[in-house]
Amino acid sequence: MQFSDSHCFLCGAHTSPENRTPVFASWLQDRYKLRDKELLLLDKSVTTFGELTIPCCDTCHTQHVIPLEEEVAQAASQGIAGLQALEEEKLFHWIGKMYYGTLVTELIKEADPLIMPQNPVSENPKMLGKFREFFKVLQSMRVPMVFSDFIPCSLFLLEVSPTEDDLPFEYQDELTTMAFSIKLGSVAIVCTLLDNGIIRKALGKLYHLTKQEQLHPIQVAEFKARVFYAAYIFNVVPEYFERPLKPEDTHLTLDTIIDDVTNEIFNPWEMSAYAHMLEEMLKPWSIREKEILANPPQPISFLLDAQSNFQHMERYQKMN
Ligand SMILES: [Zn+2]
Repeated sequence: MQFSDSHCFLCGAHTSPENRTPVFASWLQDRYKLRDKELLLLDKSVTTFGELTIPCCDTCHTQHVIPLEEEVAQAASQGIAGLQALEEEKLFHWIGKMYYGTLVTELIKEADPLIMPQNPVSENPKMLGKFREFFKVLQSMRVPMVFSDFIPCSLFLLEVSPTEDDLPFEYQDELTTMAFSIKLGSVAIVCTLLDNGIIRKALGKLYHLTKQEQLHPIQVAEFKARVFYAAYIFNVVPEYFERPLKPEDTHLTLDTIIDDVTNEIFNPWEMSAYAHMLEEMLKPWSIREKEILANPPQPISFLLDAQSNFQHMERYQKMN
């Protein structure tokens, strides 16, 4: 794992300046007209989706990145059914590449920043340990690898109702909590990396209720707030181990351990912190924390009614 501008992000081989791959693939940039769209980095410098590239050697580019992007592009063109049919591991690779690409960019910037960050990620040993574990599972993009009985992330696929949806593309990530979301047309993909599927289990009931439903964008925003908040209070870092190879083995097997003895898996839920997260996500609708916590034990919800059943929403009407 090297955060450098002259080593392949995936295999670490030395690369020349022209060996680069876009963090957001060309097909995404074309399909959603992203090339000149601006992106704000943590040090407050501005780049564009088109300019955001990471070093990638020829082998990784032609044998791993391009085939993966082609497969996801093809699946995404068939909407939610196409993406649901895709192996979860492929989506993990695809999201993992964008996440890691953004991370590499941020960390290279951190070494030579426009504005010095207050708490540089690269000086935080806990974060570096987390990135190192993530880098191990990301290697499954290029090394034949089987995860023994887990998938190193939680994935959620949501279908967005077209009635009041005017955003063809949207993207959000949190580098430290490893929460990620991307909206491709009528599909929102929300993902938490490196949690071994624990957050999906924790939110399983809610996720189940959204299946076969088209969600209003405000409901998607609430769903994202719940997932991003879960990632925020997620308190453990899984560790991954390679099983010793036997001569006849054709792939690596990875086992995992989570230390839930010395650590609680989740930090305690704090209503005000959740409300804050929800307020962030609900910004386009200008719903403030006061409104969210009008009834403190039961924060505002657009997904569930008072009996915790899914409520269908075609149009959003602001309450006064
Ligand atoms: Zn490489």
